[in-house]
Amino acid sequence: MNATSLSETEERAAAPAARACPLCAARDAEPLPRYSRDGWQIGRCRGCGFVYLTNPPASEALEEEYAWESSFAEEAGRRLKAAPALYGLDYATRLRTRLFRRDEMAKYRRWFGDGGAVLDIGCGDGSRLAAPFTPCGIEISRRLAAEADARMRALGGYCLQGATLEVIGRFPEAHFDGIVMRSYLEHEPQALPVLEGAHRVLKPGGAIYVKVPNFGSVNRRLIGRNWCGFRHPDHVNYFTLDSLREIARRAGLRLSLVNPLNLPFDDNIHALLRPI
Ligand SMILES: [Zn+2]
Repeated sequence: MNATSLSETEERAAAPAARACPLCAARDAEPLPRYSRDGWQIGRCRGCGFVYLTNPPASEALEEEYAWESSFAEEAGRRLKAAPALYGLDYATRLRTRLFRRDEMAKYRRWFGDGGAVLDIGCGDGSRLAAPFTPCGIEISRRLAAEADARMRALGGYCLQGATLEVIGRFPEAHFDGIVMRSYLEHEPQALPVLEGAHRVLKPGGAIYVKVPNFGSVNRRLIGRNWCGFRHPDHVNYFTLDSLREIARRAGLRLSLVNPLNLPFDDNIHALLRPI
């Protein structure tokens, strides 16, 4: 570690907990040093118990620097294409990706109905949604948003680039049959107002699919700071079933679990949120 990065780390660690609790808005978080790393501070709200990153990076940085999760699969694909000797592996990867997407699409059709308008928040390159849906998206990375927009326009939709809270109001009210928040809400500093915005653009009979890391999982308790759900500073919210249900309730949404039977042993929470 060089002198510059060390001083940046120290600076982050010394900064006051600037971020209010995303669930109850209190500004009193107990530091959890065993989960903090490189100056990125995890804290537990003394008001409501919510666990979150108290000093997240500014959202402008996300537009270029921290969008790696959305671009990860794409980068992996690019690397494989650059190595012809790995063609077999490339083929297997593409096949697995295609089967995974088909499986995801089958679930979306079951939850959102056959066709209709679906919004993917944090949509990456826009390839998760396909016909019969008319896909729309929101993506903070400029490069990925441009790719998603081209892909979605071919299917009658479009993608808006920017922080979700700043752009979601541009979609018409009660417009979407379904909204996808897959590996997104744990990254969103403005989770409650974003859920309220999503509620506003959702049809009364629609549903929001949420997948987030499960902070209440047995694995997190066993593995501690090396649990796969920790990602500094990309993940800014650490949900349990109770806190996810509560933040949804505050946005006027009721939660039903997709994975109730194995939830304690699942590193992720899968849930559907519907208007109350
Ligand atoms: Zn709180």
